[in-house]
Amino acid sequence: MKSRNSGESLRKVIVEENVNLVRSKSFLKRVGTKTILDDWKDYRWQLKNSIRTIEAFEKATEIRFSDEEYGKLEKTIQKFPLSITPYYASLIEKENYRNDPIFKQAFPDPAELIISKCDMKDPLHEDKDSPTKGITHRYPDRVLFLVSNCCAMYCRHCTRKRKVGDPDYIPSREQILAGIRYIRKNPQIRDVLLSGGDPFMLPDEYLDWILTELNRIKHVEVVRIGSRIPVVLPFRITKELTKMLKKHHPLWLNTQFNHPRELTSDSQEALKRLADAGIPLGNQSVLLAGVSDCPQIMKKLNQKLVKNRVRPYYLFQCDLSEGLSHFRTSIGKGVEIMESLVGHTSGFAVPRYVVDAPGGGGKIPVMPNYIISWSTNKVILRNYEGVITTYSEPENYKATSCNNSCDKCTPKSDFKDNDHPTGVEKLLTEDDRTISLVPDGNLRLKRREKTSNK
Ligand SMILES: *Cc1c(COP(=O)(O)O)cnc(C)c1O
Ligand code: SF4
Repeated sequence: MKSRNSGESLRKVIVEENVNLVRSKSFLKRVGTKTILDDWKDYRWQLKNSIRTIEAFEKATEIRFSDEEYGKLEKTIQKFPLSITPYYASLIEKENYRNDPIFKQAFPDPAELIISKCDMKDPLHEDKDSPTKGITHRYPDRVLFLVSNCCAMYCRHCTRKRKVGDPDYIPSREQILAGIRYIRKNPQIRDVLLSGGDPFMLPDEYLDWILTELNRIKHVEVVRIGSRIPVVLPFRITKELTKMLKKHHPLWLNTQFNHPRELTSDSQEALKRLADAGIPLGNQSVLLAGVSDCPQIMKKLNQKLVKNRVRPYYLFQCDLSEGLSHFRTSIGKGVEIMESLVGHTSGFAVPRYVVDAPGGGGKIPVMPNYIISWSTNKVILRNYEGVITTYSEPENYKATSCNNSCDKCTPKSDFKDNDHPTGVEKLLTEDDRTISLVPDGNLRLKRREKTSNK
């Protein structure tokens, strides 16, 4: 296939260019193409030879930019750093690079400097919901724990763009210890999500230490790692790394493939290693204009993922972070994609489409409507083919409502959870007297207060 050929030749150019760039003494000692291939597959070599300037990119790929463009690109990377692994750069299809999904995710676009009126520095309020630096405690039973702020590649669409690569944000050992202490002190935390940056940018021993500390905490039932390394630097998934990870079960891993072309044989090998180590794999892709905003691409991607034992987990609507406006699609595009997946392919190849609520409300699932209408005893539903069907509700179903008093309840449950229902869940509870949820500062209610005070 055309794409493979151009990838191969580009890889050759990059390897040879980099050989020229890194003519260090030790490098010269080793010779021959085998060395080059060995180096290519050595993640340290990849990191050392990452493309960090426009000039290096031009050299490595033989793509040339005009002087005017060059200036704009320079300005862009001053604000948001550039770093591409030679491996990921080798996947760019040179012929039509401007429309290439790999190029777009890796290479700066001066549009990143445009700040639109809805852009925010911290749209998800990850800093505001942070009890200690590096921890975001948004949901009752789980936390996000930022343990690294480096990445093998700086994704142009990154939601934490303002943080990654910034030396002011590098988490110190003390900061990590403080995070671990917070988790230890809060028994409701049963799930810890290590993210960053990329946790796999940490040395094996360091990550081993963090995982060991977390394993020691009794109430932590599961740890997950979020990493884009299987996509941008699959060689980092070494035998040593997976051997270490295996010690820390139950450990889950979520990665981020956004386009089927990213699932190369190298990436597939990395996924195989992780899956063989017994790590359940998930994928959190981001819906990106010009990259993945196509039902066919998404279907292919998700089918290819399950073939590699990766369960599509989330499809994210692009956030309102600064510098991402050119990547955003309408939510309608996401719904259209979901419509094309549900029923049309294996259920486990369908991710959940979510909008991460600006302001820190968390992930909100969005789906096409499948319920068409309702009566006292019938629900009218439609399927993916457009067939409209009727479900008759049971006549003798005695509704039970959870009021959190399990001893008096059928079905019997021993899992008394001390959590009290909140939000809409609370409205559904029979014993609770709440009849409405009202936003703070509601004017109508304020008026009422004034009148009753008179
Ligand atoms: C996404 C996220 C989680 C995990 O959410 P799940 O729906 O359980 O995957 C936890 N904390 C924060 C702050 C998050 O953004
Ligand atoms: S790997 Fe993740 S944190 Fe790093 S730049 Fe990409 S999206 Fe951002």
